This record gives sequence, C-alpha cells and structure tokens, in this order.
Amino acid sequence: MAVNDPAEQKFKDIFEKLSRSSFRAGFRLSKTDRQYAIAKGQTVLKEHAKDLLTKRIGQAEPKNDGKQTPTKGHPVFTAQHATGCCCRSCLQKWHGFEKHVPLTQEQIGYLSELVVEWIRRDLAKPEPKRRIRKGETLDLFNP
Ligand SMILES: [Zn+2]
Repeated sequence: MAVNDPAEQKFKDIFEKLSRSSFRAGFRLSKTDRQYAIAKGQTVLKEHAKDLLTKRIGQAEPKNDGKQTPTKGHPVFTAQHATGCCCRSCLQKWHGFEKHVPLTQEQIGYLSELVVEWIRRDLAKPEPKRRIRKGETLDLFNP
C-alpha cells in the first residue's frame, strides 16, 4: 500500500492505538461477513455503516446502550467492535465523543470511513483458518 494513501494516513493513529488492545485487535470478519463485504463493495458498505451508526449509536441515549451491537451478522457490526465504536462508552473512551449528546453528521461520517477502512484491512489479511462455530460469539483468545 502506498505510504501516502489518504485513508492510511488519516486513521494511522487510531489504528495504532487499537492494535495495542488485544481485545480490539482480536476481531476478524467471519467467512460469511467476508463474502458479504466483498460482494457489496466499499461504497455500499459505507452507506450501511452510516445507516447502522446513525440508528444504533447516533442518538444522545441509544436504546440498550452497551449491548446494541452484535459481534457478527454484518461486517459493520464486527468492525464497530474492532474500532471502538460499538456503544457510547466505547466511543467516549476511544474517540473522545462525549456521551449523552447526539453524534453530529461529521462524526458519523468519520466513523463510517473508519469502519470501512477496518473492513478493507481485514479483507486484505488471509482468511482466518478456524471456522467460527455456531453460538460462538468471540474468537479472541486463540490466536
Ligand atoms: Zn462498546
């Protein structure tokens, strides 16, 4: 990848920070989500990300905050956990976006790009060998 790739540069610091968390760094797309992400492409995924982020974490007091984001079922969900934008507490911790206020369009836009960039990077890695079994939620402790 080119050193001056804009997305690469823009998200350099946050990806560096996330890579130091074994919890965040342990997320990978499931086989099904990989296939889905490849089929949709980045432009569509970004639209999905905007929509899901707006509905699930965009409000000042999101419904079921802290539990609203499944770990898989859509590549955006997995990416949200991996990038610290799964709930308002994680958003505050990782991105400094204050709780109890609605997210701005600009913040949603930034997070959507981040999520899509994470998906792009995950797809660039070799497919995980171990299959994620039904009922298994996270695959974090067996690298
Ligand atoms: Zn969270």
